[in-house]
Amino acid sequence: MRRTLYCGHLREQHVGKKVVLEGWVNRRRDLGGLIFIDLRDREGIVQVIVNPDSACFAEADRVRSEWVVRVEGVVRGRPAEQVNPKLSTGAVEVVAEGLEVLAEAKTPPFPIDAGWRGEEDQGVNEEVRLKNRVVDLRRKRLHDNLRLRHKVIAAIYRFLDAEGFISVETPYLTRSTPEGARDFLVPSRLEPGHFYALPQSPQLFKQMLMVAGYDRYFQIARCFRDEDLRADRQPDFTQLDLEMSFVTQEDIIELNERLAAYILRETLGVELALPFPRLSYAEAMNRYGSDKPDLRFGLELQDVTEVFKGGEFRAFASAESVKVLVAPALLSRKEIEELEALAKSKGAAGLAWARLESGALSGGIARFVPPALLEQVRVQEGQTLLFVAGAWRKTVESLGAVRLELGKRLGLLEPGFKFLWVVDFPLLEWDEEAGRWTYMHHPFTSPNLDDLHLLESDPGQVRAYAYDFVFNGSEAGGGSIRIHRRDLQERMFALLGIGPEEAREKFGFLLEALSYGAPPHGGIAWGLDRFVANLAGEESIREVIAFPKNKEGKEPLTGAPAAVDEAQLAAVGLSVRREA
Ligand code: ASP
Repeated sequence: MRRTLYCGHLREQHVGKKVVLEGWVNRRRDLGGLIFIDLRDREGIVQVIVNPDSACFAEADRVRSEWVVRVEGVVRGRPAEQVNPKLSTGAVEVVAEGLEVLAEAKTPPFPIDAGWRGEEDQGVNEEVRLKNRVVDLRRKRLHDNLRLRHKVIAAIYRFLDAEGFISVETPYLTRSTPEGARDFLVPSRLEPGHFYALPQSPQLFKQMLMVAGYDRYFQIARCFRDEDLRADRQPDFTQLDLEMSFVTQEDIIELNERLAAYILRETLGVELALPFPRLSYAEAMNRYGSDKPDLRFGLELQDVTEVFKGGEFRAFASAESVKVLVAPALLSRKEIEELEALAKSKGAAGLAWARLESGALSGGIARFVPPALLEQVRVQEGQTLLFVAGAWRKTVESLGAVRLELGKRLGLLEPGFKFLWVVDFPLLEWDEEAGRWTYMHHPFTSPNLDDLHLLESDPGQVRAYAYDFVFNGSEAGGGSIRIHRRDLQERMFALLGIGPEEAREKFGFLLEALSYGAPPHGGIAWGLDRFVANLAGEESIREVIAFPKNKEGKEPLTGAPAAVDEAQLAAVGLSVRREA
C-alpha cells in the first residue's frame, strides 16, 4: 500500500476513487457514533470518516492529535450544505476502509491545527515555540512562509541564470571579511593558536572572482556577524550576493529592479512599477530622517532652521538644524511625552511642540514660533507641530524615529510594497570614539570619481558609488562599485588608518589580485530573510527562518551555544579561563 496522493490535493475529480493517504491527525472528533479525522500533510487537510461498522473503527478510536496514520478509503462528494469553502478539499471526504497507526505522538505543547482549517492559530510565547520548533514548524503559517522562501530562491536562480550569472560557492572557513561587525572565530586543530573566521559576507571572494574573469556571479550565501543583537538580527543570516564586471551603478540598479519585479510577479502575482524611486542619502535623511525611509506614508520632515535663526527662542536660534514634523492629529501631552522619550533615545535634546487649535497655535513653544513659520509650513486645525533642534544628523534621525512611530500609531501606513533606492552615500563617516574616519559601507567601495580630489583634503565630503535598496522601511540590500585599482585601494586603506604593513597582512591577497588586472566591477547583497519576511507580511525574520536563534542569539531547540568538553578544547589548543 503506497500513498496515492497528498491529502491536500483531493478534489471533486477524485470522487469514487480508492485512495491511500498518509499524514498527521490534525484533529479527531466523535459525532453521532462516527469518527471524523482531519488528516493533514504539507498540502493541506482532508476529512476522513470512519463508520462504526468499519473494520478499522477500533483502531481509529485510538488515534489522537498528531499521530501519524495511513488511511485507505473511497472519496465521496459532500452534500452541498456540508461543503467547507475554507478548504480546497472542502467539497470531498474520504470514507475509511482501513487505518493503520504508523506512529503515536505525545500531546503537542501547544495546538497547531487551527491554521490548517483556515482559522487563526492561537498565540504562543516565542521562546516556547522556538524550544519546540519541530511542532511549531508544523503550523500552516510556517509551511507557507518556508515555501514562499523557496519560491523566491527558485525565482532568483531562474532569473539570474537567464541573465548569464553563474553561482559559485565561496568558503565558510576563511579569513576576516570585514563588514563592520565582529568575526566568529573557529580554532584550527592542525595549527593550534590559529583561527579561521566565518565570513561576514563573500565580499572579497566575489571581487576576486571578477578579477578572475567570471563576469557575473551570484550566491545564496550564509553570512556570520557577531554583533550585539538587535531585535531583528540573526548572527547567521542569508544574503543574495551578486557581482558584475564592466558595469556602472546604473547597470546594477537596473538589473536588481528587474529581479525584484520578477520575484514579486512570480511569487505573489504583484506587478511593481519600474524604475523604483531614488533619493540621495542627503534627501532621504532631510525628508524622512532615515537612510531607509518607509514610503508607505508621507509625513515629511521640514527644515525651519532659517526661521528660528538668530531669533528670540534661544534654544533654536543657533542650532545647526531645526526640523519640524506636522502630525495630522491633536496629540495629547501624554502622547507627546512618549514621543519625546523616543526622540531622546535617538539623541535629541528634547521634542518641542505646539498645536493649532481654534485658529491659533497654542501650548508648548507656541509663543516662540515666528509667524514666518506658518507661511512656510502648512498646518491645519487639529494638527500638532513637533520640533527637534541640534546637530543635523541627530536632529533628523530622532525626528525620523518620531515620524515612524506616528505612522504606526496613526495608522498612516498604506498596504503594499514600497521599494526605493538610496544613492550618493558619503564614503566615510567620522568615528567619534576612535577619532578617525571610518568607512560607511566597506573599505572596498569606490569613491565617486568626481570627488576624488577631496579624498585627503575633505574626506567627509566625498560621495561613494554606493546604493541601498529599501523595502517598506527596511534596508533590503546594499552594494557599491568597488575600487579596482591597487593604488586607489592602498590610498583608501591609508585614509582608514590601515598602514601598509597591516594592509599587506590582512588584505595582501586582495591587493595582489588587484595587481593582476582587475576589471571595473560592482555588486550588491540583499538581506534575503528580511526580503522574504516583508513579502510574507511578517514582522520578524524569525518567521521565515526554519531554525532561528532567539533575541539573545541562542538556539533554544538545540541549546547552542553550549560548553564543550576539555578534550575538545585541548585538541584545538585552547582552555577556557573562568573569572573567579
Ligand atoms: N558585501 C556587502 C554587504 O554584505 C554587499 C556588497 O557590497 O555587495 O553588505
